[in-house]
Amino acid sequence: MLTERELAGRLQHFIVARLAPEGLGAGVTADTLLFEERVLDSLRILELIAFLESELGRRIPDEHVVLANFRSIGTMARVFSAGGKAATARPRRKPAAPVFPRSSGARQYHPSAPAEMVGRGEIEVVARGGIRLRHSALELARYFDDTVRAWALEYGAVEAEYPEAIEMETLRRAGFLAAFPQKLVKGADADSAMSPAVCYHAYPRYASSAVSEAGSLVTAAGRCFREEQDESNPLERLRAFTMREIIVVGSEAAVERLRDGMIGRVSQWIKALDLDGFIETATDPFFTTEARGRRLMQEARPLKFELRLSVAANRTVAAASFNNHQQHFGRAFEIRTTTGAIASSGCVAFGWERWVLAFIAQHGADEVRWPDIVRGHATVS
Ligand SMILES: [Zn+2]
Repeated sequence: MLTERELAGRLQHFIVARLAPEGLGAGVTADTLLFEERVLDSLRILELIAFLESELGRRIPDEHVVLANFRSIGTMARVFSAGGKAATARPRRKPAAPVFPRSSGARQYHPSAPAEMVGRGEIEVVARGGIRLRHSALELARYFDDTVRAWALEYGAVEAEYPEAIEMETLRRAGFLAAFPQKLVKGADADSAMSPAVCYHAYPRYASSAVSEAGSLVTAAGRCFREEQDESNPLERLRAFTMREIIVVGSEAAVERLRDGMIGRVSQWIKALDLDGFIETATDPFFTTEARGRRLMQEARPLKFELRLSVAANRTVAAASFNNHQQHFGRAFEIRTTTGAIASSGCVAFGWERWVLAFIAQHGADEVRWPDIVRGHATVS
């Protein structure tokens, strides 16, 4: 078995030569915090685990793939060399929510509100898992969308409009086909599909070009399609739905700036709307299919936060997500920043039908009882 010093030397060599992004390798020491200082990302972590296992000549048990054992070269060498003792994953705890209010506990839900609005024709259920909004339901969705659109413009985003169909080749390049083949809604021909998210349209437009470190931002709303219905709550999981996204491509710092800013704004907004909900870390199966690498990344630096809004006393729906893709799309579409580094990207995405659903479940179908903040906007036309 390797001594601590031998293992540290080999790890150092491997990380500097093979894993560290250009320009970062030279500064890596035994004490460098590999995750916090962004030497490793979710793709590289899998290579590191594989390398470590081949050096040790054994598989590292899943419960030892935790940040406490992987934080730095020094830590890994101490923990995994002869005589070392690895920390074990603690029993799964709920990840800390970065922000705010859960339920006040006093909420009276309106379980019949969606049916009332369907009855009045304000929500029309259309064929194959879609809904159409009218009158106050539509005004409500517009108010939500106008609010976020205005924020996006404040951040300097340019507006875009994308078609409902998307090239299959784009989804393949983005990794969607490999990650979620079962969710794909087929298009008119074999070369196209219905777009599963707004942001897939954005990345190819930056392909083989350079963006500023400060980030290039774009916002768009559009129809999205996924094969994922829920028979028991059909309105909560639609096959066709409306998304607003704000997409940033630039440095990692630019991605985090947008994400932090939007989490803050949405938290305040939820309070102003008097909505019960919370933001929590979520695992995103997108970047790697290997659960333990993902868990380690998620522990080091959450890549996905999700806003969940209550639709009943004991049920919530995911209504928005705040995503850091790291360099996943930058690599896939060959996007670099002006410094020559592979660009990072992120997106903040809102699903408006779910916002409407949660809002009426909490405030009722009768718009005169809605909070003032939307009442001024939502007038029956
Ligand atoms: Zn997105």
